[in-house]
Amino acid sequence: MQLDRIIQSQGFGSRKECRALIRAGGVKVGGAVITDPFVEYAPQGFQFEIDDWEWEYSEKVYLALYKPAGYECSHKPKHNESIYYLLPQPLVTRGAQSVGRLDVDTTGLLLFSDDGQFIHAISSAKRQVTKTYRATTAEDVTDEQIEQLLAGVQLIDEREPACALQARRADTRVIELVVDQGKYHLVKRMIAAAGNHVAQLHRTAVGALSLEDGSLPELESSDWCYLRPKHL
Ligand code: URA
Repeated sequence: MQLDRIIQSQGFGSRKECRALIRAGGVKVGGAVITDPFVEYAPQGFQFEIDDWEWEYSEKVYLALYKPAGYECSHKPKHNESIYYLLPQPLVTRGAQSVGRLDVDTTGLLLFSDDGQFIHAISSAKRQVTKTYRATTAEDVTDEQIEQLLAGVQLIDEREPACALQARRADTRVIELVVDQGKYHLVKRMIAAAGNHVAQLHRTAVGALSLEDGSLPELESSDWCYLRPKHL
């Protein structure tokens, strides 16, 4: 594939912009500046450098981000920064979007991709991919609240009660719970329905991908990493 096409496919602008970037000496391959936009490379595993940043060609992009509080999962945020500001712009340009959403004040694991099938597989209710949360509550957690979360709580505007697949009191005011749905404010609504209130919410895992068990590279708040095939 021609270099200008490769660079374009990875989110560095239009074909014309990519040609101009290459001609201006902005692209290195194997440490050498390449100024011919039409030179051919095999895209699979192709590595290049732009602005001192190493890139590797990929057909689709898969990312994990440790979301900090104060960011909206939207391209057009209303009151806060967009979560997309935390990702390298070429990855956003090529279409990486969040797999589901976390509330502005929720922290933790958020996946991104430009692969529609992957996004659907993770977010579709039918696939029942689990999400693990740690909720810090305003009041002490009672045994009864845990029992209610496990038995199912009735939420306003929902037909069926919402059940946690797992729920436990991890500390006096901390509940760890696993759910397999992705409804709006689900965990906050469930805990409110059980008679407590979420003061802070953190997602530790999506399916088998966890911020805490070594299944992903260690991420600090605001860090992101590529997901490798072993993760998918
Ligand atoms: N449940 C919530 O209430 N908020 C989130 O951000 C995620 C799940």
